[in-house]
Amino acid sequence: MAFKPANNIQDLQYFGEFGGVNPSISDSSTYTFLSAKTMFDTFEGNADGCYLYSRHSSPSNLYLGEALAAMEDTETANVTASGMGAITAVLMQLCNAGDHIISSRTIYGGTYAFLKNFTPKFNIETSFVDITKLETVEAAITPNTKILYCESVSNPLLEIAGIKGLAKIAKKYHLKLVVDNTFSPLSISPATLGADVVIHSLTKFINGSSDTVGGVVCGTQAFINDLRNVNDGAAMLLGSTMDSLRAASILKNLRTLHIRMQQHSKNALYLAEKFEADGLKTVYPGLKSHPSHELYKSMMNPQYGFGGMLTIDVGNIDKANELMELMQHKNLGYLAVSLGFYKTLFSAPGTSTSSEIPEKEQKAMGLTDGLIRFSIGLDADIERTYDLMKACMTSLHII
Ligand SMILES: *Cc1c(COP(=O)(O)O)cnc(C)c1O
Repeated sequence: MAFKPANNIQDLQYFGEFGGVNPSISDSSTYTFLSAKTMFDTFEGNADGCYLYSRHSSPSNLYLGEALAAMEDTETANVTASGMGAITAVLMQLCNAGDHIISSRTIYGGTYAFLKNFTPKFNIETSFVDITKLETVEAAITPNTKILYCESVSNPLLEIAGIKGLAKIAKKYHLKLVVDNTFSPLSISPATLGADVVIHSLTKFINGSSDTVGGVVCGTQAFINDLRNVNDGAAMLLGSTMDSLRAASILKNLRTLHIRMQQHSKNALYLAEKFEADGLKTVYPGLKSHPSHELYKSMMNPQYGFGGMLTIDVGNIDKANELMELMQHKNLGYLAVSLGFYKTLFSAPGTSTSSEIPEKEQKAMGLTDGLIRFSIGLDADIERTYDLMKACMTSLHII
C-alpha cells in the first residue's frame, strides 16, 4: 500500500489538559519530581515519560516531534531551534575526530560552510561529490568515512538524490545516510527509501508562514536518545533547543502542509511549463527535461507533486536583479531568501544563499550568476501571475 504521510499526521490525537482539541502548551523550563530517586533515574535516562528540563525535552516539543516522525515514518524525532541546529547536531553526534564525510556538492550554503570551514577544526574532513553519480560516491569512500550526506532535492540546483541507490551504498560500507528533506516534505519520504536520518529546516514549507526558524531530526529511538543524552548528546549539549510556544505554533501549521504542498506544486508546475515554452532555461523536477525527472517519479508520493521550487537562468546577474526588482514592484512576490511562504519568494543564489561557496566551485557545479531561484507561492490565480511575470520579462527583453 502507498505510504500516506499526511494521514499519519492527521491520525494523531493529542488533547489538551482540559479536553482542548489542541495539546496544552508546556510553559515551563523545569519540572518537579515527587521523589528524589526518580530525578536521579531521569538523569540516567531510565525514567521514561518524566520531564527534567526543557533543553532535554518538553511536552510541546515532543508533540511536534512525534507528528514529524509520523510524517517521515521514523521511530521518533527531536525538534531543534533551527535547521542548522538539527544538521550540526547530527553531524557532530555521528562523527569523531579523524572521521570523513561524503557530501553532495550542491547543498544549502550554511551546511556547505559548516562542512568546509568548521568541522575541519575537529579534524573531520568532507569530500564534496556529484551525488547523482553513484560510482563517484562509492569511489570517494575511505576507511574513515562515516556519513553520506545529501538533500533529496538540492539547493539551489534542484538536483535529485537517488536515495535507494545511496542507501544501498551506505549499507554496504556501514555508513549513515543523512538526508535533508527541506525542499520536498510529503513529496519524498527518505526514510521509506532507506535513509537513516531525515532532517528538515521547519523554517521553510513545514511551518510555511515565514515567522520563525526551526528544525527537526527524524530517526531511530536509539539515535534520538543519543542526541539527547545528558553526558554526550549533541542536541542536549550544543543547546539548540526549540521553545515550547513555537513548537505548538509549528504543529498547528503542519496540519495544513498537505494542502499547501499540493498548491505550491501545482503552481510551480504551471509556471515551469510556461517558462520553458517561452524559451527560458528552466529547471523543475516536474519537467520531462529535468535529468532526474524519472528518478523523482520513482521516489515520490505522487499526490504532492514535484514541489514548489524552480529556477530560471536569465543570463547574467544584472538582468536577474532587474527582473526580481520589477517583479517585486508589481507585487508578484518578494525579493527575499528562504522558501515555503504563501507569497512567491525569489533570490539570486550565487550572491545570496550560496555565496558561501567560492565562485570557482559555483561554476564547476553549474551555479551560474544569472540563476534565479523561485519558491512559488500559493497564488489562487496562477494564470494571472504568469501573465504579469511574462510582461516583466518581455519589457526587460529576457523573452
Ligand atoms: C534553510 C535551509 C537549511 C537551514 O535551516 P535554518 O532553519 O535556516 O537553520 C538547511 N537546509 C536547507 C535545504 C535549507 O533550505
